[in-house]
Amino acid sequence: MPDVRIKTPNLDEIFEKWKLRAVRNDKKKMEKQFGTKGAIFSLDAISAAEYVKDTQKEAAIYFAIKKTVGAVPKGAEEKIVLAPRVVREIFYSFKGEGKLNKENWKGDEKVPTYETIQAVSCKKCSGKGFTEEKCKTCKGTGKIEEKLTVLTGEEQKKEEKPFSYPCGVCFGTGTRKIKCSDCEGHKSVFKYQILPVPFKTVVTGIPVLHSSAQTKYEKEIERDLHQIIEEVEGIRFNDFKELESKSEASLGYWNKNIKKTINSAGSDYKSHSKDKEAQITTQIYLFPMIQMFCETKRGSKFEIYSLGSANKFMIYSNF
Ligand SMILES: [Zn+2]
Ligand SMILES: [Zn+2]
Repeated sequence: MPDVRIKTPNLDEIFEKWKLRAVRNDKKKMEKQFGTKGAIFSLDAISAAEYVKDTQKEAAIYFAIKKTVGAVPKGAEEKIVLAPRVVREIFYSFKGEGKLNKENWKGDEKVPTYETIQAVSCKKCSGKGFTEEKCKTCKGTGKIEEKLTVLTGEEQKKEEKPFSYPCGVCFGTGTRKIKCSDCEGHKSVFKYQILPVPFKTVVTGIPVLHSSAQTKYEKEIERDLHQIIEEVEGIRFNDFKELESKSEASLGYWNKNIKKTINSAGSDYKSHSKDKEAQITTQIYLFPMIQMFCETKRGSKFEIYSLGSANKFMIYSNF
C-alpha cells in the first residue's frame, strides 16, 4: 500500500540535469543565451536561483493499455438474387489466404464472398421453373373433340361420328406451362453472403498519460514513459479509487488542476476497462511533475518539466 509520501526532485537537481543536457545538445545556443561577453563560458555560473522565475507543482497519471485493432464487426448480410444477376456482382475469396493486413486492404470491410454462393430451389414453383394451368384450347382434356361426317352406302346416309386427336397446344397433356415469375424459369434463385474481410487482429500497446500541467510534451512524455517506465519513479496503484483517496497525501501538495486531471484520467480508465477490445496492462502510476518557468540572461523565456521522484525523474524542455 503506497502510504508514503513521494519525494519530489529539488529544483537545483532538475535545473542541473537540464543544463547538462542543453549544453550537450547545443553549446553555442547556451553560450549565446547565458554567456557574458569577454568572459569564459562556464556552466557553474548558470544557476536555478537566478534563471528560474517561477515553479508549479503538478501531477501526471500514466497507464498503458493493449488494444486489438483490425477486428471487424461480426455479422453477415445475405442477398438473394435471380440467377442472371449473380454475375453482375464482384465476389471475393479468402480461402487458404490466411488473415489479411488491414493496412494493405483497399476496399470495403465486408464483401460478397465467393464460397457462400448457393442455389436455393424456388419455393413458388417447387424448383420446376414453371407452374401449370389447364390448357384453354382443349379445356384440360388433352384432346380436341370434333365431329366427322360419314355418308354411308348407296343412299349416302349422313352420319356424324366423333373424331378426336391430341391437342396441339398442350401436346396432348391437357396442361400448359407458365414461366414462374419468382425464378423467371431458372428453377432456383441464388443466395450469397456479404462477410467481414478476415483481417489480422493486431495487438498494440498504447500509453495513456494525463497531466495537470498544460504541456505540449504530453505525447512525447507518453511515448517515453512507455519505453522507460522503470526509469521513472512514481507511486503505483492497483485501482483508481485508491489513487483518488491517496494521491494528495502521496504528492504532499494539491491543486484544482490535479483534481480535474485525476477525474478525467479516472473516467478514461473506466472506459478502457469497459472496452472489450482493450486491456489495461500496467498499474496506474502517479507522478509528481514540476513545471519551471525560466528566462535566459538574454531574456528568452522557456520551460522545464520534470516527471518522477527525486530518485528517478526525466525532464523535458522547450529551450
Ligand atoms: Zn420458380
Ligand atoms: Zn391442350
